[in-house]
Amino acid sequence: MAVPLLDLKRQYNKIKERIDKAVQEVFDNGYFILGPPVADLEKRVAELCRVDYGVGVASGTDALLLSVIAAGVKPGDEVITSDYSFFASTSVISRAGAVPKFVDIEEDTYNIDPTLIEKTITPKTKAIIPVHLFGQVADMEPIMEIARKYGLVVIEDAAQAISARYKDRPAGSIGDYGCFSFYPSKNLGGVGDGGLVVTKTEENYEMLKMLRLHGWKQKYRPLVVGYNSRLDSLQAAVLLIKLDYLDEWSQGRIANAKKYDAAFAGTAIKTPVVREYSYHIYNQYTIAVENRDELMTALKENKIGHDIYYPVPFHQLECYKYLPYKTGDFPISEKAAANVVSIPIFPELTDEEQEEVISVVKSVSA
Ligand SMILES: *Cc1c(COP(=O)(O)O)cnc(C)c1O
Repeated sequence: MAVPLLDLKRQYNKIKERIDKAVQEVFDNGYFILGPPVADLEKRVAELCRVDYGVGVASGTDALLLSVIAAGVKPGDEVITSDYSFFASTSVISRAGAVPKFVDIEEDTYNIDPTLIEKTITPKTKAIIPVHLFGQVADMEPIMEIARKYGLVVIEDAAQAISARYKDRPAGSIGDYGCFSFYPSKNLGGVGDGGLVVTKTEENYEMLKMLRLHGWKQKYRPLVVGYNSRLDSLQAAVLLIKLDYLDEWSQGRIANAKKYDAAFAGTAIKTPVVREYSYHIYNQYTIAVENRDELMTALKENKIGHDIYYPVPFHQLECYKYLPYKTGDFPISEKAAANVVSIPIFPELTDEEQEEVISVVKSVSA
């Protein structure tokens, strides 16, 4: 039986009537860029994060980039981030003209190791971008302590972690900026690209709103050199409907994760570790095995969807050859890149399909 890594058609079929109606309304009303659904979504996501402001932007990558710029990161500054994430967590640093400074991850959560941050700080350090990888929030308390001590801005990359929590605080609400992605495969996914930044101060909010709209408040009179990075009404209209189901979908993912956890317990398959402070929403269910090539072959042969998030740590990327890193600098991240594979976890996965995934994985890697 073939099992997809993700099947968005199943999700759509369950909520088709509501989605179609919301989409039709956008066409009927003719407001395509920003518009009332975007303002509603900004309000709803800000509420979800228990902060005052939300700003819809064109993608999760732009959510990060605009936050980095709004934070005042300038060419030559340094910004600290995890060595192990999706490329956008670091590309935005480079695109702002700043220098990314990588930090190794914790072996159990794949998130930035807070105990290694302080020694990376120099007088040029301006900000930290912790990433909440796979749907589990990074250990934010020590990170915030370090940030306060050195006067650094904290930009949470919560692209995979909308509605996850850390000590009951929502992902994105702990640092200065919280960045979300609505890429279709994220837990809250649109029908195209989209993103959103949440923030707590009016000053940050006003700057983000200017940056997404060419840098102006008043048309054609930019105060700063901004971007064109707006969220469109169609995305927001769809996302507003889907937001009603986000908790239910997270519960589905958590239930599936529990089944995998139980099935792989006591084997050589390393399952995700959920910290005591954590409400993990499993954007991915990522296992680690010593014989990954073998496992991948078996998954492929049995048509079971899987992917490696992520195959190359940042310090080994071709585009970062010019940075002063070498293989061996971040051993935990290198090991993760060599051993991890993510398997189907989406809420609509059937018991039968999950049994199939479990049996193939165990046949090779247990
Ligand atoms: C998806 C993702 C992004 C980028 O979001 P886009 O909407 O695809 O631009 C950034 N960081 C992480 C960790 C992501 O998973």
